[in-house]
Amino acid sequence: MATSVEIPAKADVVVIGGGPAGSSAATHLARNGIDVLLLERQAFPRNQVGESLIPHFWKFTDLLGVSEKIETEGFVRKSGGITAWNGQIHQITFSRYGYDRPGLHVERDVFDRILLDHARDCGARVFTEVSAASVDFGDAQWPVVHYTDKRAASNAQGAVRCRYVIDASGHSCLLASQFGTRRQISSDLKFLALWGYFENSRYLGADRSSHAPEECLEIRPVTFVMSYEHGWVWHIMLREKASVGVIVHTDRTRGMNKAGRAAFFQQTCNDLPYLRELLRTASFIPGSLQFRPDYSYYATRICGENYYCIGDAAAFVDPVFSHGVQNALYNAAVATLAIRESLKNNNLRKRYSQICESRMQQFYGFSRALSLGDFGANGVDRELVKTMMKALPELELELLLVASAMTNRSENFKQLAREAGVWDGFSDRAAITAPDQIASLSL
Ligand SMILES: Cc1cc2nc3c(=O)[nH]c(=O)nc-3n(C[C@H](O)[C@H](O)[C@H](O)COP(=O)(O)OP(=O)(O)OC[C@H]3O[C@@H](n4cnc5c(N)ncnc54)[C@H](O)[C@@H]3O)c2cc1C
Repeated sequence: MATSVEIPAKADVVVIGGGPAGSSAATHLARNGIDVLLLERQAFPRNQVGESLIPHFWKFTDLLGVSEKIETEGFVRKSGGITAWNGQIHQITFSRYGYDRPGLHVERDVFDRILLDHARDCGARVFTEVSAASVDFGDAQWPVVHYTDKRAASNAQGAVRCRYVIDASGHSCLLASQFGTRRQISSDLKFLALWGYFENSRYLGADRSSHAPEECLEIRPVTFVMSYEHGWVWHIMLREKASVGVIVHTDRTRGMNKAGRAAFFQQTCNDLPYLRELLRTASFIPGSLQFRPDYSYYATRICGENYYCIGDAAAFVDPVFSHGVQNALYNAAVATLAIRESLKNNNLRKRYSQICESRMQQFYGFSRALSLGDFGANGVDRELVKTMMKALPELELELLLVASAMTNRSENFKQLAREAGVWDGFSDRAAITAPDQIASLSL
């Protein structure tokens, strides 16, 4: 039997979690010659939800030097999205906003493995099946990450000292849980996400017609999102299967056991127009149903002088606008820049962490304002969001404003744009690039 490589006792930076946030943080650091060790509790590839990527993500994968590996994989290229929201149907097409690269529908086990392998190729020391348990900040200059090594049956405990800890542990929010800084977004906004996979599903193409699954590499799909009385649903066409999700107010599923949730999921898929038609030739993949309750949250403090929380470990909001992965990539870039500079000048590390805190809270606040819109966005610093609106490239902001207008969640976001003084210019142009309104879909 091969013996496991020993985990070093010391590193400049320890990254907890090997999802997009953690692996890209490790890549940025390793490419800059920093000794980085990444601990991931699962064996890779591992399943993950969140398969729809908007084209913003390419600018981060370019920075990481991994875009070519992603292109070579041949993921499904999508042209944009179609929403059927409150009875109105809209289509948005990325190329109309200046994007010459597509959005993607990715199998996240494959996508995340590409990013993690890339981190390793760039020099990060990556250990999978090693679970971080806690971080001891008693010595502020040398925090200690305690872990359980699950690679052997012994579940050995160990510890590694480092200058900086990056918490990229996703929704388990290791540090925010340890510090008690994790907050639910709002008591009115308790939704449950249920998702599963279907074989042989038809899909909705950019041409607004439905297509057989084998056409999806030739005729570009859209991400299809639809509201219904208790929440909303998604349909995302992947290479071998379709991902279908149901976001439902928890009042509807209270007290249901696993079988009850599965029946509820199937019933919702059968009841809803459009979705029902897309799934009419499909069969549900047994055992593929998963769920996540109460998934909108944020941490009140995400950066300290010796730690940074990034990706879902810092905050997560309703995924209606497919923001999660690109948020993770953005925050990895910002946090690692702060760490690189701090390693050069230890005296300034507190200052860098403060700048990073406001940068990242600004970004997450922007996401919350966008995704939650009229449901409220507690904990959002409106002034920071407005500053970001002013700084965003015009077409990027426009795409997001137009996307927000495709749901009923736009009022709060539009109000922020008005207060920031970016709305007037936008509303002139919006006539040119507004989402197309469609009378109906013939599926
Ligand atoms: C229902 C739903 C739908 C979504 N849809 C989309 C979408 O369409 N598009 C999109 O962009 N985003 C979507 N998202 C969000 C997206 O999945 C996340 O934002 C993204 O995965 C965040 O990446 P991350 O690296 O922060 O976390 P993750 O991808 O969760 O990675 C965290 C990693 O940390 C590891 N880990 C956890 N605890 C420990 C520990 N103690 N020690 C070591 N390792 C640990 C985990 O095993 C995991 O591999 C969706 C989310 C949900 C819930």
